[in-house]
Amino acid sequence: MTDLPDNDLPHALLTGYRNFMSGRFANESLRYKELAEQGQTPETMVIACCDSRAAPEIIFDTRPGEIFVVRNVANLVPPYAPDGEYHSTSSALEFAVQSLKVKHIVVLGHGRCGGIKAALDSESVPLSPSDFIGKWMSLVAPAAETIAANTLMTSGERQTALERISIRYSIANLRSFPCVDILEKKGRLTLHGAWFDISTGELWVMDRKTGDFIRPSGE
Ligand SMILES: [Zn+2]
Repeated sequence: MTDLPDNDLPHALLTGYRNFMSGRFANESLRYKELAEQGQTPETMVIACCDSRAAPEIIFDTRPGEIFVVRNVANLVPPYAPDGEYHSTSSALEFAVQSLKVKHIVVLGHGRCGGIKAALDSESVPLSPSDFIGKWMSLVAPAAETIAANTLMTSGERQTALERISIRYSIANLRSFPCVDILEKKGRLTLHGAWFDISTGELWVMDRKTGDFIRPSGE
């Protein structure tokens, strides 16, 4: 048992860490040792939301070293923009594709996404282009404005629609990166979309031909 001063971190985190050390780390110590010595070789990159309820490692029940994850507000991929600015998602993508040579990229969206809600509901959640989130969510502003204006849909339907449209949008933006486009055309990289319903645990997977979200067979 690692001895840590109890005043360093929130108590729940320290308790969790101790459970991790006596449970998962103890059970998988050999795997951690191998990963430390040989480096990581994940075959899949997951681009997920920061939302605390939609952690891809938990949803996909993955082992250490199995998936390379980048999380941001509303699991968005910005378009390729080599403009000298700071691009955290793009740099993670570049590393995953060019250095780790992942074979799959999954854009994982989820229900009740706060970022998507903010993009749709500008009255109750005002976003300004001068705010970081406002600027970030402007990536999906055209779709958000179109959907927000659709009074035939309920607010829940609008929310789910934009959550799924933004996944397709992010996949389109992935293809604006030359390294992704080239490898996908060579058949060495596959792009996927998925949407997780946090209330039921259902996972809906994007049909790559139609863009529709369907329940995987056997589920
Ligand atoms: Zn979210």
